[in-house]
Amino acid sequence: MKTVSSLSDLRAARLSLDGTVGLVPTMGYLHEGHLSLVRQAKAENQHAVVSIFVNPTQFGANEDLSKYPRDLERDLSLLEPLGVDLVWTPTAETMYPPGCQTWVEVEALTKGLEGAMRPGHFRGVTTVVAKLFNATQPHKAYFGQKDAQQAAVIRRMAADLNFPLEVVVCPTRREADGLAMSSRNKYLSEAERKAATVLFRALSAAKELYEAGERDAETLRRKMKEALSREPLARMQYVSCADYDSLEELDVIKGKTLLSMAVFLGKTRLIDNFVLE
Ligand code: AMP
Repeated sequence: MKTVSSLSDLRAARLSLDGTVGLVPTMGYLHEGHLSLVRQAKAENQHAVVSIFVNPTQFGANEDLSKYPRDLERDLSLLEPLGVDLVWTPTAETMYPPGCQTWVEVEALTKGLEGAMRPGHFRGVTTVVAKLFNATQPHKAYFGQKDAQQAAVIRRMAADLNFPLEVVVCPTRREADGLAMSSRNKYLSEAERKAATVLFRALSAAKELYEAGERDAETLRRKMKEALSREPLARMQYVSCADYDSLEELDVIKGKTLLSMAVFLGKTRLIDNFVLE
């Protein structure tokens, strides 16, 4: 496993990889969710490349950039046994050279949900992912369903900008009690960690209604709100029952649907979602 930081070293290392390459972009502090993406990339390609970069442009002014957890040594020790070929750990100066003024922006898909709560977030995500794609030239790129809107936005960007690659979306990995794995779970106090299962419980309650035949989207949203309101440590930011492709809020559920939510546990903001097929 080779680890490089500069763009010239990355390009040289990429040139030495013959055959297909799968890219897994991450912000590090890796957990089993990230590793499942890496395993899939390794299984489906001759080489796996992982990027580790805490991207400043996707954090809002009042968000947690400076205290975002980092542990490169631990990350590398988790990636090595998976047979990763190349790890790229660029600096902010490499990704955003002095004077840079070029951005990639996906329009309608970024207006709602996370985009509405975190202005500028997706502009940062799409810009950095476009740079990662250009630099690493992957055949396939792997993203988690955990960040459902991000996956939809990246898929749109890759199609719109004619990137010659396939975007692969992998299932959400969860702890035994249902909490979606996230680097941010580390911020939770013991009590908040217990309370955090409320996201999974609220999504499950709505899914149960759906499976019993309910197709009124507002009824599902209400069910999720009720479940969240029963947890005193949780503060709902939004719940959504939206069309899977357009991400527009639904009145009546017809096709593939995304149930999603953002919830604060103390100062920690968690997101989660279920897909109704
Ligand atoms: P991050 O380091 O948070 O930017 O995440 C890097 C990639 O891992 C993104 O594509 C995420 O959607 C994905 N990911 C994060 N958590 C999970 C999870 N619990 N299960 C599957 N994929 C995940």
